[in-house]
Parts: sequence; structure tokens; C-alpha cells
Amino acid sequence: MTALKDSPYLLADVRLEEGFEKDGDVIVATRTALYALEIKYGRIAALHAAGSALPAGLPIYRANGRLALPTMRDMHIHLDKTFYGGPWRAPRPRQGKTIMDMIALEEKLLPQLLPTSVERAEGLIALLQSKGSTVARSHCNIDPVSGLKSLEHLKIALERHRQDFVCEIVAFPQHGLLHSKVDGLMREAMQMGVDYVGGLDPTNVDGAMEKSLDAMFQIALDAGKGVDIHLHETSPAGVAAIDYMIDTVEKTPALKGKVTISHAFALTVLSPEQLEETAGRPAFSERHDHRLDGADRRPDDAAAEARRKRRLRHDRHRQRDRPLVALRQRRHAGKGLSLRAALSRVGRVPAVPVAGHFDRRRAAARQGRQPRLAEGWR
Ligand SMILES: [Zn+2]
Repeated sequence: MTALKDSPYLLADVRLEEGFEKDGDVIVATRTALYALEIKYGRIAALHAAGSALPAGLPIYRANGRLALPTMRDMHIHLDKTFYGGPWRAPRPRQGKTIMDMIALEEKLLPQLLPTSVERAEGLIALLQSKGSTVARSHCNIDPVSGLKSLEHLKIALERHRQDFVCEIVAFPQHGLLHSKVDGLMREAMQMGVDYVGGLDPTNVDGAMEKSLDAMFQIALDAGKGVDIHLHETSPAGVAAIDYMIDTVEKTPALKGKVTISHAFALTVLSPEQLEETAGRPAFSERHDHRLDGADRRPDDAAAEARRKRRLRHDRHRQRDRPLVALRQRRHAGKGLSLRAALSRVGRVPAVPVAGHFDRRRAAARQGRQPRLAEGWR
């Protein structure tokens, strides 16, 4: 993937969608046509229909009739630790393994992965780009084994792609914020240009729900960052954690609109009445006008910051319309959804599990089993 340095320039022979062909009420085809896009500072400044006169003197690149679509964003990925790019490794059965078993396994794996983690992160970025994703939010391990090395390596990989890939970083205490005693490392990470404070199962891993969540929020408040927590717990721990986080956000103005709960398996075990009650909490339904994501982060340099903001500007409408606490589940990983929106989509999942992690989790939850950890390990 290459970034065009010219500005302005023309991107000619681009196919754009114009509308639909209908047979009565049924859409039977998409209407498209070719255009030349006039691009200024990374934004579409004008559309010129094929055959019309083009502004003189601008460099022209040709898309050869390819369809232009909005970029895709991978909003939950771990670029810092991946087997991708290395020798094939068959998945191993994880039945009966607890999250503590997985942490112990990772303590062995991390030293093996670190020497090649920059190259592997770059490989994963190239894979994302090849499928159309140019924006991501990556969690990054902050743990006693790798220290800040995972973050340092991720930053090297991202620096090499600062022209063609935009990525927010979540400092992620994968081995438990309290359990692995990484409060100090997390605070150091905040000074290294991360955008969000991560968290992990405050009861099952840290063994102290309120203390763990308070510590996570305090780091965020001290650094002026947002929060994006991995919550794999179901009931009662996960439900209690969600309630506690909502309580905290509702009474802490600085956190409003800046908290994302990733996975949130607990929602799958609530009764319809409990779901309705949770969905009715103001944090999930109030709208909050807040700044561009990451606007408070320290820019590495003004030009890079300006580029990043230009790329994210198109998202502003969505940022303004975000709930105080957003949910991100694998099934709907592309964006933070309000609880009502998330639930309305979940409601369309067939009652009989067919395929996919999320459906299996729901089935497991219904049968009173904890979802397998393997599904949460990301
Ligand atoms: Zn994850």
C-alpha cells in the first residue's frame, strides 16, 4: 500500500454508488457510475462526472473502474502479539482452561514472540490494509513479562506506517492490573502516547472488583485518557462490574463518552427485565457531545497530529452521537454501540445457536456454563 504525497490530485475512473434499481419495493441492483475525485489534504473536495472537464494542472491517478467505499476500521485487535507471519500453529484445545491458565501460558509465549513482534505487527497491518481497513484500535500488553517492550515494538511498527495507517493504542494489563501489579507500568505507558487505559476481568483476575476498576479509572483520570476494558465475566461478577462502571461514569463527568466495554459477555445472561433496566440507565441512553477521539493525546509532531485528525474528522458525527458508555462486542466490533442498539441487533440472533463465537457464548450462558476462555483471548 502506498500513500499519495500530491495534494491536490485527481483520482479518475473511480466507480461510485449512485442509488438502487428497484422492481417495485425490491432492490434488484446497485446503480454506479464513474467519476474523477478531486482530493485535497486527504479529503474529497469535488466530484467530476466521467467525461466532464477536469481542473487543469493536477496530477491524475487512475482507479481503473474500481469501486470506492468508505474505509473499514478494526476497532478491537491485538497487533502486538500474533502468530501471524510465523510458522503455522494448530489451535490447541482449551477446554477446562481458566483465564489464569492462559496467563501462565502467555508468560511462556511472550518472550518467544517479542523478538519478531515488530515484523509481525507490520504483517498484520498489511493484512488489514489488503482487506480495506486503514484505521484500528489496538490493545497492547502491559505486563510484568514484556514490561513496556510490547508497546515499544508496536510503536515502531506504527511509526513505519504513519502515512498509511491510523491506530489508537489501548494499554492493556493482560495479566491483571492488580494481580500482576502493573499500575506503575501502566502509568509509564500513559506517557508513551497511548490513547486508552485498558482493563481486564476485575473479579476473576484481580479478585477485587471495585478496587480494580477504581485503579483503572484513576489512571485514566490522572492521564486524561479514555477507558476500553475487556470484560469476559458473566454473572454475577460481570453484571456487577458493568453496574459499577456505569455508576462511576455517571458521577464522573471527565469519563463521560470515553468508556468502552469490550465483549461484555455479561449482557448475554441478563433476563429481559434486567436488560431493559440496564439499557434504561442514563449512561447507555444519554448522548454526549465530546471531542474527537484521542484529541487529548500528546502529538508526536504537529503534522502527524493534523494528518490523524483529518482522517478521523469524518467520524465526528458519530463521536457526537455516542453514548456515555459504549459497548463493543465481537459480533458488532466495528463501532461502539449504545446498549439499546447493541441489544436490538443481538435480538435478531436466532435462538438456536448456529455458528460464531457470540452464539456459542449465549448458548453456554443459557446452560449455566462459563464461555470458554479461548473465545475471550483477544
Ligand atoms: Zn482483546
